[in-house]
Amino acid sequence: MSLVEGRSVDPLLTVSGLRKVYEGAGRRVEAVRDLSFTVGAGEFVCLVGPSGCGKTTLLKCVGGLLRPTAGEVRLGGGPVTAPPPGMAVVFQEYGRSLFPWMRVGRNVELPLRQKGLGGERRRELVADALGSVGLADAADAYPWQLSGGMQQRVAIARALAYEPDVLLMDEPFAAVDAQTRADLEDLVRGLWRERGVTVLFVTHDIDEAVYLGQRVIVLSSSPTVVQEELAVDLPVERDQLHTRVAPRFAELRTRVYEQVQAAKRGAAPVEDAGARTYPPR
Ligand code: ADP
Ligand code: MG
Repeated sequence: MSLVEGRSVDPLLTVSGLRKVYEGAGRRVEAVRDLSFTVGAGEFVCLVGPSGCGKTTLLKCVGGLLRPTAGEVRLGGGPVTAPPPGMAVVFQEYGRSLFPWMRVGRNVELPLRQKGLGGERRRELVADALGSVGLADAADAYPWQLSGGMQQRVAIARALAYEPDVLLMDEPFAAVDAQTRADLEDLVRGLWRERGVTVLFVTHDIDEAVYLGQRVIVLSSSPTVVQEELAVDLPVERDQLHTRVAPRFAELRTRVYEQVQAAKRGAAPVEDAGARTYPPR
């Protein structure tokens, strides 16, 4: 992958002029006003913004699950109008995304059947994905027999087994305890590095965004626009113990925090000559 300013030069995913207005039952909510950004092949981009700012709406539009009111999403050059074959989504509400009457292995296998893969290949991918999330022994359990963190790992395994080119994650760790969350963050970063998958990760947690991403896009309050894009110039090797206490980590989280605060007030981006932003100004 060739990198310029820490990001791939050829955009895989392009969101341009995206607008989403919900209408119905006499109500009209402009959730997303005007969003434009790109994600390069193999990039790890975090979107951070306050609750209710339209993050889930945006991700659903990117995943082809929701039709934008205006603007478009393009993947690999073509417009996204339905869920693209090479994309997998991990939602926040994993409890509802797993089928309780199916064993874990079957849950992970289901999208592979829909993909039309043969039995042997499916078994291989399921075992491999469950192994990568540390649940090799849980294939025969039912989701409700597992803890919340384990269920979320099943949801991640299901997305991985699918071998996506693009992984969309919508606040996937919001409902798990702090220790599990830290483990899952490292798991996702490890998988990103090993598999070269492109990740678009949505969170309201500033530290998580800085810890995980190569780039952080700060969203404003609803109706949403891009408040700022920030390159995360931390080393590729990151770990919970050292990265989070590094001076540069503190600078970056402060910068993102200021932008999120400004976004909440509806103010213009906070200027800071010392911060390295993308694109360079
Ligand atoms: P976030 O994920 O950032 O918390 P959402 O995308 O869920 O934000 O919601 C953004 C805004 O759109 C909110 O004001 C929310 O109430 C509204 N909204 C979301 N889904 C719908 C829907 N199906 N119908 C009407 N309004 C919606
Ligand atoms: Mg949401």
